[in-house]
Amino acid sequence: MGKTAALAAVLMTGGLAMAAETPKQAKPKAPKPLAPIAVVVRPLDLAQHELQVEMALPAESVKAGAVAAMAAWTPGSYLIRDYARFVDRVEARPEGGAPYAPEKLDKQRWRILPAKGPVSLRYRLYANELSVRTNHADASHAFLTGAAAFPALEGQGGRPYQVRFEGFPADWTVATGLPERKGAYAAADYDTLVDSPFELGRLRVRRWESLGARFEFAFQGQHNGDEARMAADAQKIVEEAGRLFGGFPFDRYVFLLTFSPKAGGGLEHRNSTALLADPFMFDKAEGYHRLAGLVSHEFFHVWNVKRMRDAVLGPFDYQKETPTRLLWFHEGFTDYMDSVIALRAGVLPWAFVAKEWGQRWTENLQKPGRREQSVSEASFDAWIRHYKPTEFSANSTVGYYDKGSLVALMMEGRIRRGSGGKAGVADLFARLWEQCGDGPLTDAQIREAFRALSGEDPEPFWRDFVVGRAELDGSALEQALGLKFEAKAPWELLSPEDQKDPDAVKRAKAFSGLVFASRGNGAEAPTVLNVLPDSPAWQAGISYGAEILAVDGWRTATAAEVQRRLADALGRQAEVLVQERGRVRTATVAVSENPARTVRLGADPGATPAQRSAFAAWTGQPFPAATRPLSRPADEGARPQERGPSAGGGQ
Ligand SMILES: [Zn+2]
Repeated sequence: MGKTAALAAVLMTGGLAMAAETPKQAKPKAPKPLAPIAVVVRPLDLAQHELQVEMALPAESVKAGAVAAMAAWTPGSYLIRDYARFVDRVEARPEGGAPYAPEKLDKQRWRILPAKGPVSLRYRLYANELSVRTNHADASHAFLTGAAAFPALEGQGGRPYQVRFEGFPADWTVATGLPERKGAYAAADYDTLVDSPFELGRLRVRRWESLGARFEFAFQGQHNGDEARMAADAQKIVEEAGRLFGGFPFDRYVFLLTFSPKAGGGLEHRNSTALLADPFMFDKAEGYHRLAGLVSHEFFHVWNVKRMRDAVLGPFDYQKETPTRLLWFHEGFTDYMDSVIALRAGVLPWAFVAKEWGQRWTENLQKPGRREQSVSEASFDAWIRHYKPTEFSANSTVGYYDKGSLVALMMEGRIRRGSGGKAGVADLFARLWEQCGDGPLTDAQIREAFRALSGEDPEPFWRDFVVGRAELDGSALEQALGLKFEAKAPWELLSPEDQKDPDAVKRAKAFSGLVFASRGNGAEAPTVLNVLPDSPAWQAGISYGAEILAVDGWRTATAAEVQRRLADALGRQAEVLVQERGRVRTATVAVSENPARTVRLGADPGATPAQRSAFAAWTGQPFPAATRPLSRPADEGARPQERGPSAGGGQ
């Protein structure tokens, strides 16, 4: 934007000066465009999830030989996935020569021998992982993600690709962010190919125009929702985001939404996004709201991470990990802004957003890992921790999504307070976009924008919440926006009737520090999922994976029975029979009072007019009239794993 104009001015001045000194200097020749790689994808056997890919490597690309390299990962999903494991039957056919099997150089690269003419490179692609960052094909559809489907020629990443689909069912169509000409989808280079997933199938496409750009929303798969409503809400969301950033940095944008049971997640791209959703998530209003939040989330990435980004996040090295310390901003702040944009667009109600933020606040308060890891550290270790969760995760990590979004929420309070309610995190993004545009963004620039908008020295905020591990602090939000954080003990969350029942209160008060898998049906096995550090069970030496056979001599067949028998022992020691690796022993657990608190984010009925107007400027919605009472009973202890890659997919 501003940067590009400045660069053009410098070039012009330089050019004029040179022209004056050496009038005969020849005009520099435009570099010859690279010959494209023509790719054809065919079904081999859709029922068996097998595709065939044939790549015509132009003569100039193989004259001196070449190396075809599959990617190890795909941007936006920070895990080594080794996509080459789905590629086999690799064969090279030089024009006019004998076919051969290219030598494999390492886990993901093949050597193409020097050739006088073009070489056809063929392979089988196994596509049976339905996620937004892998390939999936069957009789109903095909989803292809560039990094998982196509190799690059090493050192030739700038070479264009043209992708065709042949032999698929006649009534299938293709949705992708790439432009189509005569049946071929053109990617300017390998990065663009990787950034442009394809969805093929019997698609239902809704189209509209917003602020001068064309939008498509392609639906695949059956479900019980309302596509007209989804597309209309997507339009409201994109327009709200477009207004914040002064228009769109593309001419065309495509949403690819595939429905499949228990599927979920989204992956951001520069002018498209791949989304997965459960067909029945519309059974409850909250399901629809979550999908709307996902649409808003991926779309906000158009600016945050796909264009303004940490310098290591593009161009990419697809062969190995690329850690960044800024995922708390790229993901956490996007998680926060997806709600703000959808609130302002009138797509999400305040009650839904407030409940979600309250739950996140509560989960963070109860998660022991908050004392061990900062969001900056969590970002850097995404590759080995967030994407590879273990039983140790709850006690040793925080999520850069959830905690990052709470850091954004706290920053909202600081900026609103410092600006007299006028500016907020949205303005921080607008300001950074002015400065960075489609280019690198640094932590120092975020700090500077925070300073400019809040009038506050950024150092303490960063020290506490970004690189540090201070407890969450809602005071600025309460002061600036008239919000109220209410913390309740588990027994205060009981129904008024139960609060009068001393046994119910006792059960709610009992605390051992044991966490079991909870699916809500009360019949889960009494196998320990987590033990909260320094809790009574921790001190009794009980750890992950232990099975609780009995409490005080009573056989316990389910997790719920363990919790009930431990509650009987409130204020005294319980004899717990534990099975670990085939051996049985007795542990003594001193059952104490539960220190966990559940936080609800509400609105202060006594908020001042200034606070009410700051709230309206923030959310685009009127100040909430009344708040609903807390009803969700608190689970004992921390939740073992937050939503994340293990729970359906990164966003
Ligand atoms: Zn995201």
